[in-house]
Amino acid sequence: MTDDVLIQNGRIVTAVDDYVADLLVRDGQIEAIARHIDPSPTMQVHDASGLLVLPGGIDVHTHMEFDLGDAQTVDTYETGTRAAAFGGTTTILDFALQGHGQSPKHALDQRLALAEPQACVDFGFHVILTDINPGSLSELPDLINADGVSSFKMFMAYPGVLMVSDGDIFRSMRAVGAHGGMINLHAENGEVIQVLIEEALAQGNTSPKFHALTRPRIMEAEATHRAIRLAELAEVPVYMVHLSAKEALDSVVEARDRGIPAFAETCPHYLFLSIEDYDRPGFEAAKYVMTPPLREHECQHALWRGLRFDDLQIVSTDHCPFCFNENPHGLNKSKQMGLGNFERIPNGAPGVEFRLPLLFDGGVNQGRLTLNRFVQLTSTAPAKMFGMFPRKGAIAVGSDADLVLFDPNQPQTLSASTHHSLVDYTLYEGFHLLGKVAKVFLRGQMIVNGDEWLGQAGMGRYQRRAASGRIL
Ligand SMILES: [Zn+2]
Repeated sequence: MTDDVLIQNGRIVTAVDDYVADLLVRDGQIEAIARHIDPSPTMQVHDASGLLVLPGGIDVHTHMEFDLGDAQTVDTYETGTRAAAFGGTTTILDFALQGHGQSPKHALDQRLALAEPQACVDFGFHVILTDINPGSLSELPDLINADGVSSFKMFMAYPGVLMVSDGDIFRSMRAVGAHGGMINLHAENGEVIQVLIEEALAQGNTSPKFHALTRPRIMEAEATHRAIRLAELAEVPVYMVHLSAKEALDSVVEARDRGIPAFAETCPHYLFLSIEDYDRPGFEAAKYVMTPPLREHECQHALWRGLRFDDLQIVSTDHCPFCFNENPHGLNKSKQMGLGNFERIPNGAPGVEFRLPLLFDGGVNQGRLTLNRFVQLTSTAPAKMFGMFPRKGAIAVGSDADLVLFDPNQPQTLSASTHHSLVDYTLYEGFHLLGKVAKVFLRGQMIVNGDEWLGQAGMGRYQRRAASGRIL
């Protein structure tokens, strides 16, 4: 048993509360919250005067050690979750990808075996379905009820690689919905986008900017609308991952107005960056090649508005790190694979460490989000949406003591030279922000103290989740 931990005089902020109190942690859980708790000699005492005490961040969209066939993301479960912790994230949901001919359960077991000895924060998985047949569908009830995987992702993009047909999406939706699960969708019209890509390449348009120009906003909107209609017929909650386009958001709003359980997340890069970043000189723009691509400024405004009024429920990072340079991690973990052909640039960008500080500065400091809404978007809604509340996402008696002491007045400059991911760049190089993570506790154990790492690989626990998508 570890010592009790007493956090004194912090400003405790949850999705609904905001007050100054003392907080006692025992055996990894929150034991008591009171105006004053007497310290005892056996307690580890932390003075949180002037600091916010937040429930640990939950990032429901990351790709650690993700294998795309010819390319792999550079962060391991260890390095990626350590970076997450430094940014105030204490739980991630990553992905187990079902290969063709593979059983979804087998895909999950493989990822668990890989992640468990390495994870520095708590973790769970969505299973990505790519091979939908009676055998794989028959495994879904057990995955949901016994293994605690209550969310399944499918791709409407990347034909011939990850894309599944509308019929298969519909079949999976019915099977998942019948057992308390939710479907996550990457919504883009993959076949039409493939036509545009082939046209661009045939015309010699090979630079990174054409990644964005061949993935138009209305093809995200079209697939979003289609996904929601399929889910409506199958009677299953549906969650749109990495929503980027204003027109796609319109489809989500329209469905929600009709009472359909349709949800969506967006990511910091769509809030802070724009299509203009593809005009950077040379191959530099490849750093910004993620899918969907960065959009026009008007989409940023629509997304911020959506976050504010609950048209969007969650901010995740889609942390999918590929290095810019080939060395030292190798060509297959590098954007350089796509030099001379934008279609071959590995799609994805890093960000797991900066979600909280970016959203705090751009949201709370800029007056776009309240402090409570900030906590809702980064911790409480993810916990509720994906079946982890109130163990996670809450500061309440009996909840896991995943806590972030956040200094709202501490300035910081984001840089790849000081971040903790293995990746060699950040989308936010040189961004000056006000607000910085001071200390992070995972189930009562301090794992981050300023710039110091106190956690260890393997201390993160697998999270068996209850039903997903039951938040309204
Ligand atoms: Zn992703």
